[in-house]
Amino acid sequence: MNRESIIRKVKLNMSLGKYKAISSYKVPDDVEEWDVCNTCGLRPIVWEFNNGRSTACGCGKNEYNHFSIYAESIMSVVKRNNGSAMEYNSNDLKTNWNVYQRTGITICDRNRLIEDGKW
Ligand SMILES: [Zn+2]
Repeated sequence: MNRESIIRKVKLNMSLGKYKAISSYKVPDDVEEWDVCNTCGLRPIVWEFNNGRSTACGCGKNEYNHFSIYAESIMSVVKRNNGSAMEYNSNDLKTNWNVYQRTGITICDRNRLIEDGKW
């Protein structure tokens, strides 16, 4: 499936209410590089905000209580590094998501981010 048809399918599923996510979640630009969820079969949509980055798919109870994979936000990286974004990797969330889907390993736990002052 090409990128355009993947985006169309994700947007259709969003409009059908299959995603457990608030409206701030968007289709990632490189959506074709994100694995489908092993549990619900949907490709994830993502939210990047001041505190962090997170995914949403069809897994979970509702838009406020759902399964997510996490990564540190660019704001947090910049704050920890005296204004420098050198250490920021925009692919971290995708990597964390794909590793989880392929191995079940959670690279980046949200509680760990909070403990480490990265949230
Ligand atoms: Zn899922």
